[in-house]
Amino acid sequence: MQKSLASPHTTRSTCPYCGVGCGVEVSVAADGITLCGDQHHPANFGRLCSKGAALADTLDHEGRLLHPLVNGQRASWDEALDRVADGFKKIIAEHGPDAVAFYVSGQLLTEDYYVANKLMKGFIGSANIDTNSRLCMSTAVAAHKRAFGADAVPVCYEDIEAADLVVIVGSNYAWAHPVLYQRLAAAKKARPSMQVVVVDPRRTATCDIADLHLAIAPGADAYLFNGLLHFLRREDALDLAYVEAHVEGFAAAFEAARAVSSIPKVAQVCGVAETQLSEFFQMFARTERTVTIFSQGINQSSSGVDKANAIINVHLATGRIGRPGMGPFSVTGQPNAMGGREVGGLANQLAAHLDFSDAASIDLVARFWDAPHMAQAPGLKAVDMFQAIAAGKIKAVWIMGTNPVVSMPDADRVRAALLDCELVVVSDCVQHTDTTACADILLPAAGWGEKDGTVTNSERRISRQRSFMPTAGEAKPDWWIITQVAQRMGFAAAFSYAKPAQIFSEHALLSGFENAGKRAFDISALTKLSDVKYDALQPVQWPLNNVAPNGTQRLFADGKFYTPNGKARMVAVAPQLPAVTVDTDFPLVLNTGRIRDQWHTMTRTGKVPRLNTHEFEPFVQIHAADAQFHQLQDGGLARLTSRHGSMLARVQVSEDQRHGSVFVPMHWNDAFAKLARVDALVAPITDPISGQPESKHTPVRVEPYKPVWQGFVLSRTRLELADASYCASSWGVGYWRHEIAGETLPDNWRSWVKNAWHGSGDWQEYSDAAMGRYRAACLNEGKLDAVFFIASDQRLPEREWVGNLFGKAVLDTADMGALLAARPRKGVASDTGRTVCACFGIGEKTIRQAIQKHGLNSVEAVGQVLKAGTGCGSCVPEIRRIVSPLQVS
Ligand code: SF4
Repeated sequence: MQKSLASPHTTRSTCPYCGVGCGVEVSVAADGITLCGDQHHPANFGRLCSKGAALADTLDHEGRLLHPLVNGQRASWDEALDRVADGFKKIIAEHGPDAVAFYVSGQLLTEDYYVANKLMKGFIGSANIDTNSRLCMSTAVAAHKRAFGADAVPVCYEDIEAADLVVIVGSNYAWAHPVLYQRLAAAKKARPSMQVVVVDPRRTATCDIADLHLAIAPGADAYLFNGLLHFLRREDALDLAYVEAHVEGFAAAFEAARAVSSIPKVAQVCGVAETQLSEFFQMFARTERTVTIFSQGINQSSSGVDKANAIINVHLATGRIGRPGMGPFSVTGQPNAMGGREVGGLANQLAAHLDFSDAASIDLVARFWDAPHMAQAPGLKAVDMFQAIAAGKIKAVWIMGTNPVVSMPDADRVRAALLDCELVVVSDCVQHTDTTACADILLPAAGWGEKDGTVTNSERRISRQRSFMPTAGEAKPDWWIITQVAQRMGFAAAFSYAKPAQIFSEHALLSGFENAGKRAFDISALTKLSDVKYDALQPVQWPLNNVAPNGTQRLFADGKFYTPNGKARMVAVAPQLPAVTVDTDFPLVLNTGRIRDQWHTMTRTGKVPRLNTHEFEPFVQIHAADAQFHQLQDGGLARLTSRHGSMLARVQVSEDQRHGSVFVPMHWNDAFAKLARVDALVAPITDPISGQPESKHTPVRVEPYKPVWQGFVLSRTRLELADASYCASSWGVGYWRHEIAGETLPDNWRSWVKNAWHGSGDWQEYSDAAMGRYRAACLNEGKLDAVFFIASDQRLPEREWVGNLFGKAVLDTADMGALLAARPRKGVASDTGRTVCACFGIGEKTIRQAIQKHGLNSVEAVGQVLKAGTGCGSCVPEIRRIVSPLQVS
């Protein structure tokens, strides 16, 4: 693994994965790079989750895009940049500025985002720049603007710890925002009177600390919070004095909530027991310090903005906002989704939290930039943008740091649109993704550890992401690539930045430009930072100006909002269920989401063996009753089909799943599995206000997929197993693991194997055609290079034991005998079970055995005996479930 050879040093930076924005401390030494959580960073105080803790293992150059490529051929930077600039200029000249688009990413740093937005909206003259953050939090942006007059998150992380009641809605917080979850879990442990309610159709790891789990019917959240508003009024639990002084729209919102308001009716439509609903409502009514956390379960909906406003409504009506331990809290998915919001990364926003709703805002930005071609109207939001590409209206698109062929809904149509598009430019760190495969021009971008700038986390905290290693190959920072193209398009004067600090300074200056307290986003105190001060910038929360020179922990403490009259707005919400419902052809609801140890499309976390052991295949989780009805077997394969596409996945039967719903992770893609892009199934239906897709509710059917043969291959090199109809590949320690299945039996397995494996070596094999079994192993100088196990059914040996043989310097005769017999040697453990603790590689079977052997009865006791759960802590909820099955009412 290639690591930096720079002189030893320690650098403080920020984790590039989720919106928690944890600080990391990176130590570079001659023998490699190590990292740990930054004890001083206020987001995490030293904690890291499994993904963050494995960051040092992602820094090699394996799979990196190292040079510019034009039509698949290596090109110089000058050549590639000229081709991008000329291509965009030509299409703009022929078809106008709206014929081009940028699709950017919450992975970009704020400085990258700023110049991309400035180029498109101020100089090209179109607002066709949208971001993958559209898919995760544009709903919260719209709801904040409706309620507060600004896209401003009211609360801070400390409020979660200070609350007496934390309601978590539509979020598997334990896996999606692990360190924030750990902070909450620690606070609850220290103060057991704190109560936690989880509102989610699935029973997730987050329920580990829940006092109450409301397994709500998919999409019914607005009914729940409207019902709560009505209940609070009836119980005299509203703060009408606060409403009178600081809120408008109460009467209309309350009237709308009356439509479905009695406990029996709300319980019926939400699909929960009346007693549970009543318990939740009473908890909320009596608990002043309440934080309501919401995330994708709310946002990714065709009526998500209304749902978010229904949540905000109850906080406004109770005056539970702007004070310690209370408020509605949208947690963002991506590391810099918030930074993107600040600079106008969404097609309907302008920079500095301005938008297109009034001419004065457009004029303000145009004057500040001295922009020659200022966009005058919102551009196309992500789903519309890709549909415009498909329709040929957008003829050139530049995709930066994201993988829409995997993550966009109706993903097959997105791929087809890109393949037909006249000019597709992709800048990315990674060479082979589903999206780079569609590119005409590939530009190598600097990766984490190489690039330098700022990010903003979910609590409005700006932190530095600092470089600590040289860039790979010819990779360049995104801001440099964008400004070079801008200069070649004729905008040299406005894009002559020499370093990110200059861009940040301009961004800070714009935030305060003609602001005078009118806009929430104001970091004017950070204007004109010297290079030294920019480099040393400590994590700080905006607003940050002459009124609040040290930043602002919590907003709206004075009851003043960013609306024309200073009052917050309650919104009359008429709840709607999802746009498309199940029917006899598509009887189950598909819900998508994250798993514990993977990030987005796995381009980084997929490289780390220990992050691939928790879940190594695409899977579909289904309730036992549904599995039985649809004739699906636990561990078997299934085909999922919607009106838009289909995929294959391994079946996991689970009581955690709500009857009628299935869950599939969002991560798998063509780079790791065949036919496993779940977004190919998701309908391109969006919220009419935010444009965010309804990724949590797609009607599907799930049928058994019955291959003629199945098996697995472990191999030191990655194999292209094109003849397998199902193939999921993942990194193990020292080998690649391929889970495979096929629909047609080859004439000869030996030929099939030789066709798949191109290396030399000594082969030994076992074949039983009558039983449909074939096994082969290849040795090189006594060392195991590859093994193939094929069977007509699922009776295959444990991969753990076989994988361990790759660690042996020489396999002896007994090892080979065991391999071909598919049984471990006497005294060798066959299997430790599915990995639960990624930090220490502890499997479920090992934990169960230790519990039995030592009579362990707590997570702490398991940790003492096995160390499991004592590293990053991400696996603690699973260990607790093994020790004592979940006890949530
Ligand atoms: Fe990174 Fe995990 Fe922290 Fe998110 S919670 S920022 S993924 S370490």
